[in-house]
Amino acid sequence: MRIINTDGRLGLLAGGGYLDVETASDGTFDADPQAVYERWDSFREWARDIVATARIDEIRPVINERLQAPVPRPRQVFAIGVNYRDHAAEAGIDPPAEPMVFTKFPSAITGPYATIALPRGSVDFEAELVAVIGRAAYQVPESAAWSHVAGLTIGQDLSERETQLRPPAPQQYNLGKSYPGFAPLGPCLVTPDEFADPDDLAIGCSLNGEQMQKARTSEFVFTMGQLVSSLSHVVALFPGDVIFTGTPSGIGWTRNPKRLIGPDDELTTVIEGIGQMRHRFIPAASPHPQKGHSNV
Ligand code: ZN
Repeated sequence: MRIINTDGRLGLLAGGGYLDVETASDGTFDADPQAVYERWDSFREWARDIVATARIDEIRPVINERLQAPVPRPRQVFAIGVNYRDHAAEAGIDPPAEPMVFTKFPSAITGPYATIALPRGSVDFEAELVAVIGRAAYQVPESAAWSHVAGLTIGQDLSERETQLRPPAPQQYNLGKSYPGFAPLGPCLVTPDEFADPDDLAIGCSLNGEQMQKARTSEFVFTMGQLVSSLSHVVALFPGDVIFTGTPSGIGWTRNPKRLIGPDDELTTVIEGIGQMRHRFIPAASPHPQKGHSNV
């Protein structure tokens, strides 16, 4: 099953287009895409039947430019640092002994075809597989973790490196990765059963057609099961929460010379079995002046 957020309404992909869920369910399910994760099990049951019986005149065309994030307002957004060995190597650090966790604030979420304003600084790309929670999870074992995942989508962990790496310690990851538009998600959410192996998906991104990152999610340091389980041993995970699972090697910041995102670039992010996102960039309208640094 695949769902989308089109013009702020929940859609279920079917017959080469999509069904508007609120209309097709006679109001049983809300149009708000965020609301569906609270009723995930019953929605899946309904969706299984409706896809088979949908009338052709109910199917609407998908228009990429109208797509928004399939998870527009999660309570919590988790992100994992250095979860690929080759990315740890290019960053000059050892793979961590346990998942390195930070957040991207939910206000950074945007859609899969958005135009994103570049703040002043050094904006970098990070293609990432993103998991969305479909069933509340607290202290779940690794073996049960996938049953708490509603589905997978594509994310970009856009990062302004100067803010991210600036003192005071601990480094300001949460801020540097949370400018408006820095957490694009989409184009759809795909349930785990749609994949031959949801733990082994090709992932990559390119700038203006030039491949920048290319890997497989089977190269994770910590598997999806380990990530969900270890997070849930500290934090209660709610339906609709989002987990960015880390990026492979090839980021712009550690290239020589650096390859950062500029206003004329087009960034395409692809994951096998999910699809692709495409982002364009413009300079921020009114760059705020850089504040002086203080040691106090
Ligand atoms: Zn990342």
